[in-house]
Amino acid sequence: MLAGERQPISPDPHDLVRLISREQLETWATEAPVWDRDNTYPARAIQELAGTGVMGATFCVEDGGRCATLRQVLEVIRVVAHHSGILARVVVDSNLGPAALVITQGQLAQRKEVSASVHAGNKPAIAITEPMAGSAATELTTSVTERGGRLVLNGEKCWITGAPVSQHYVVFARLAPRPGYKGIGIVLVRKDRRGIAFGPVPRMMGMRGLPEGSICFRDYVVGSEDILAPAGEGFRIGMSLYNSQRLGAAMVATGIAEAALHHAVTYTKQRHQFGRPLAANQGVRWMLADMAIQVDHALTYLRAVADEVGTGLAPDRVRVAIGKINAAEMAIRVTNAAIQLFGARGYDGDGPVERLCRDARMFTIGGGTTEMLRELIGKNLGPPVILDTRAKQVTDSPGSSR
Ligand SMILES: Cc1cc2nc3c(=O)[nH]c(=O)nc-3n(C[C@H](O)[C@H](O)[C@H](O)COP(=O)(O)OP(=O)(O)OC[C@H]3O[C@@H](n4cnc5c(N)ncnc54)[C@H](O)[C@@H]3O)c2cc1C
Repeated sequence: MLAGERQPISPDPHDLVRLISREQLETWATEAPVWDRDNTYPARAIQELAGTGVMGATFCVEDGGRCATLRQVLEVIRVVAHHSGILARVVVDSNLGPAALVITQGQLAQRKEVSASVHAGNKPAIAITEPMAGSAATELTTSVTERGGRLVLNGEKCWITGAPVSQHYVVFARLAPRPGYKGIGIVLVRKDRRGIAFGPVPRMMGMRGLPEGSICFRDYVVGSEDILAPAGEGFRIGMSLYNSQRLGAAMVATGIAEAALHHAVTYTKQRHQFGRPLAANQGVRWMLADMAIQVDHALTYLRAVADEVGTGLAPDRVRVAIGKINAAEMAIRVTNAAIQLFGARGYDGDGPVERLCRDARMFTIGGGTTEMLRELIGKNLGPPVILDTRAKQVTDSPGSSR
């Protein structure tokens, strides 16, 4: 092993998260309201996050990673999301989705370039959505064509998490003049090249500080080595690896909801009305119990889906869709309940739970809306899904029925 080369992390699901100190988490929690208020990208905190080794941790040792499993990354996402939703989303993108696409599909030189960038604290971005192709992603028109003997990329992307701060963009584009998914491939794009421009950063409802910007490509020159997936293969490969990103996003939502629950438990024990703590009222305790049931259920489910893939990064898409819908809708309910339990302090923009409520709102939209994910589940329901490996586990387990 070369000096300075990282070693694989031990298989304990919680070992990766132990790389982050309590002090670091507390510092980020203190800074998170400022990033939100000023809509500023927390570059320094992200470099600190990279310094712990949790960014690019899923990469193999040759790519500077720790061979971390999906489950280990989920544990990091959960804990970081308690303190900052945007940092947790950086953990997602730097291990799963766009990062995983480059590391699994890229050539050696691309892997080296992107892994070095990720380990230095640069989150790669994934660019699928276009102004006229949102849910209908296979209708995208951004294209690579030949002009003057060169391949050039033209088109526009919007709502891209990380634009304009990311250095690398995994761009879904039409590589062949064939309709629907058949023409779509994936291109690795660099920010520092000619032919790429960024729109102004929009002010979003939540997750402020992590920009969701637009990108314009004008004759951006593409080398054949920059093609991560050819026409016809891009959508299949991309969506297969994107499922890990969806699982990660679901865990961000769950971590945020868990933080809201924690605040609500603490507050309702401290705040007195009618001469007793709020939590002394059964109605309040039942609200807290309902929040805890929902958070625990989401957490347990997401961990199970991650455990099913072992060392792989491509979880079952139907299981992921179920988990993401459940976590996204749960986080909206739980953060709202926390606001209710805080009374006017919950509604206060400088209080602890208002930001959590805004941050939790995006997960039914970003990464595939809950409507589209319901479509995915509905279309895939039937005997082949029901009789999958989970059914086998039930049969194999002697203690599974009473
Ligand atoms: C915070 C955030 C981060 C994002 N990050 C990224 C990113 O990094 N990269 C990226 O590529 N994109 C990103 N997106 C974009 C996101 O993927 C899209 O917003 C999403 O796919 C929906 O597209 P749209 O907004 O154009 O909505 P539309 O497609 O216009 O849909 C509007 C509404 O209609 C519903 N709808 C549409 N068609 C149907 C149908 N057939 N049946 C029932 N309901 C339907 C949708 O579910 C939705 O509720 C992000 C979005 C957000 C909010």
